[in-house]
Amino acid sequence: MSSYKIAAIPGDGIGTEVIEAGIEVLGALAEADGGFKLEVEHFPWGADYYFEHGEMMPADGRDQLMGFDAIYFGSAGDPRIPDHITLWQLRLNICQGFDQYANVRPTRVLPGVKSPLEGVGPGDFDWVIVRENSEGEYAGVGGRAHQGMPEEVGMDVSVFTRTGVERIQRFALDLARSRPRKLLTFVTKSNAQRHGMVMWDAVFEEVRKDYPDITIDKMLVDAMTTRMVLNPASIDTVVATNLHADILSDLAAALSGSMGIAPTANLRPERDYPSMFEPIHGSAFDIMGKGIANPIGSFWTASMMLEHLGEPKAAARLMAAIERVTAAGEVMARDLGGTATTVEVTAAVIDAIRGANA
Ligand code: ATP
Repeated sequence: MSSYKIAAIPGDGIGTEVIEAGIEVLGALAEADGGFKLEVEHFPWGADYYFEHGEMMPADGRDQLMGFDAIYFGSAGDPRIPDHITLWQLRLNICQGFDQYANVRPTRVLPGVKSPLEGVGPGDFDWVIVRENSEGEYAGVGGRAHQGMPEEVGMDVSVFTRTGVERIQRFALDLARSRPRKLLTFVTKSNAQRHGMVMWDAVFEEVRKDYPDITIDKMLVDAMTTRMVLNPASIDTVVATNLHADILSDLAAALSGSMGIAPTANLRPERDYPSMFEPIHGSAFDIMGKGIANPIGSFWTASMMLEHLGEPKAAARLMAAIERVTAAGEVMARDLGGTATTVEVTAAVIDAIRGANA
């Protein structure tokens, strides 16, 4: 029997609620499957840890995570701590420190879920957005000078390296190749950003030569938002820079029906460091502690994690269970128009997993 070591970092806000639910579901799935085992270790990092220790995670935190097969992450964020501290000291510290350069975000409308797009339902679109996750606009390069003075200046410098650009473009082209439509939309903004983005385009022109079997179209990021809303069926796999894909994937999550259901994977394809899996939503302090967070984003995330671990059957079984629950429509969380609590949605998905065994 295969056994996998999972590092759980529930983090802050509803992160703790949905990761707890996800671990319960994973436990039920492993039991029902019988072919694999998960050993989960918790790391209580995040805002509470920050108030106690002055940092979001310990200095040797990444060393502690090194031996794990995957990281299951909730969310980092607290209204009492500036966002750039919570983000950089925990999530980005792990993503960038482990060079998890491929951020992968699948989006589709699950059965029984209503998209805000008129007339668009399950099966009408099936996207995977690939976000460059290690550099670009979020490289952390820049500075501030003359702070508090009238001449104060703040600068963020986007960093595009040939290595960084080429590897994410190849990753996206390989992913497009593995999907039935073999279609990739290449997103850019080289009309206005005339250095890094022009290089981004130039590298792509070279790389695409190795993928003659992939249908490729190129879009400016602003036009891409319009296309996602007006012609969603025309899109399959998408590749974009760190900032552009960050924005596009939030739009994608909203178009799929709710922020509460969307998953994401921060992949280290070479597997020399662990990859990290997280729901796309943040801490959502407005609903924290009320027991009403939708855990489906965290379950879909768990399915992506199983896929990465080499358990595609269990991953598919979990997705099928989620879809059975949403399709039935009886146990829906509030963000999907229902009244079910986190615990109720979790129980329904576990029942669906067990039902599949019967
Ligand atoms: P952060 O600053 O950590 O990104 P946030 O609170 O600004 O967090 P999100 O958590 O991404 O933003 O979510 C925005 C809103 O969407 C929340 O305020 C919440 O009302 C709703 N939401 C997000 N996730 C869920 C969920 N899992 N279930 C129900 N509602 C959710």
